[in-house]
Amino acid sequence: MATTTKYIFVTGGVTSSLGKGIIAASLAKLLQAQGYRTTIQKLDPYINIDPGTLNPYEHGECYVTDDGAETDLDLGHYERFLNVPTSQANNVTTGRIYQSVIEKERRGEFLGKTVQVIPHITDEIKHRIQILGNSGDYDIVITEIGGTVGDIESLPYIEAVRQLKWDLGEHNALVIHLTLIPYLSAAGELKTKPTQHSVKTLMESGVQANILVCRTEHELPEELRDKLARFCNVTKESVIQSIDASTIYDVPNLMLEQGLDTIVLKKLDLESNTPNLDQWNAFLKRHKNPNSEVTIGLIGKYVELQDSYKSILESFIHAGAENEVKVNVESVHSEYLNGDNAKAMLSHLDGVLVAPGFGERGIEGKIDAVRYVRENNIPFLGICLGMQMAVIEFSRNVLGLEDANSTEMNANTKHPVIDLMEAQKTITDKGGTMRLGAWDCKLTPDSIVGKLYNTEIIKERHRHRYEFNSDYKTQIEAKGMLATGLNPETNLVEIVEIPSHPWFVGVQYHPEYKSTVAKPHPLFIAFVAAALKHKKNN
Ligand code: GLN
Repeated sequence: MATTTKYIFVTGGVTSSLGKGIIAASLAKLLQAQGYRTTIQKLDPYINIDPGTLNPYEHGECYVTDDGAETDLDLGHYERFLNVPTSQANNVTTGRIYQSVIEKERRGEFLGKTVQVIPHITDEIKHRIQILGNSGDYDIVITEIGGTVGDIESLPYIEAVRQLKWDLGEHNALVIHLTLIPYLSAAGELKTKPTQHSVKTLMESGVQANILVCRTEHELPEELRDKLARFCNVTKESVIQSIDASTIYDVPNLMLEQGLDTIVLKKLDLESNTPNLDQWNAFLKRHKNPNSEVTIGLIGKYVELQDSYKSILESFIHAGAENEVKVNVESVHSEYLNGDNAKAMLSHLDGVLVAPGFGERGIEGKIDAVRYVRENNIPFLGICLGMQMAVIEFSRNVLGLEDANSTEMNANTKHPVIDLMEAQKTITDKGGTMRLGAWDCKLTPDSIVGKLYNTEIIKERHRHRYEFNSDYKTQIEAKGMLATGLNPETNLVEIVEIPSHPWFVGVQYHPEYKSTVAKPHPLFIAFVAAALKHKKNN
């Protein structure tokens, strides 16, 4: 098979949660910094068509791409590290693979053949892996296989990798196996046996790992590297240690020190140079040497889990570095917040972000939080549901529309200031049917957003069904909450601001999906700056 694109597969062994996404993103960063056009793809072995219908408690945040794909949160890491947009092609699930095979079967495209896991499902997986490579846009495609080697549901993926590795030939594809070297504190020893077993499991499927990346809490001694090399059929230089880091943004440098990029390029028969990480390292320096700090409250209902608001937390890291301040994010559970305790819970904060979300649970707490920060001049950023809560709060407490609400929470409210979008009214399916992906928004020039984006038309990513009800726009604006961003075609209100407040912005879209190390999001930068100013003035 003639090919110009090189393929790297990343598999996982021993346990889940070893950070395959971060390793894949870090390697991609190093390859990109050597001038190779690199992208990363994630294959997820579950049956949901996409993670859009998954509870954030179960699967963490759902990350949305420009083209409106609801994807795994690892794609967020890929974009944050590489500053290159991903798309639907970068995340494929078993559900989607089966869906396309079954649709083909219904169209009669298999010409009477019995449709089977092998070859039909594996062929579809191979096809999905090569879509990015065949686009001509990339020199290297890194494919992360979700799950752990040995899982029943991963088997067709491993088989597809085996076939592709064979089809593509030596120097065109390789497998990196990410594994765990546990430390037994009672024995004071690092143990290699689980890794030996997971490499063996991979070999039982006919796949030889070419490189081992070993997650470890302690330095791997020489003799242990020797042992791993000997028992796992890899060269010693291909045993890479990935020691716990204080920030995920250190991982590219840690991989560079271990020579991961060099060994990968050597095996792929590609030229290797010194990666240019100047911009990356400048960011790290700012991130690690803040001049001051601010504390921002994150009001949501999934606050126990870091992964549920992953992109928001990362956006604060980027914006903090840009402002040279450390941003402490204090999680506040909206279900436990009310008008009586709002002062105790929020008055010490330098800024408050009300998070995106769905459903009724915890929304009254969000509304009380908005009221407190609006009345007490604390900088506020509302994202998606957070923006909708700001509109409801303003309608109730400033316009006096007592039962103002979203029809998502109360279908019979007298004042549906947030209402189901027209285009949503006939939709019954839940999966992939929201208003998704990048949409244009026209900004009011002298507003907060008009000044900070420095352009008239922006494109931001959306994921919602409900929207500001324009029937209330005149009333709301007359009392001082302005619509400063509108969709140029439909006039949907995408941004609200209160000019009489020091910094109060609500956005219907998700700025957090577009913040990267190379390009921290202007809205987060300005919000952190406003929090810093608030802190100084108080
Ligand atoms: N539940 C709201 C809607 O569908 C907000 C969605 C969100 O915050 N992503 O419009």
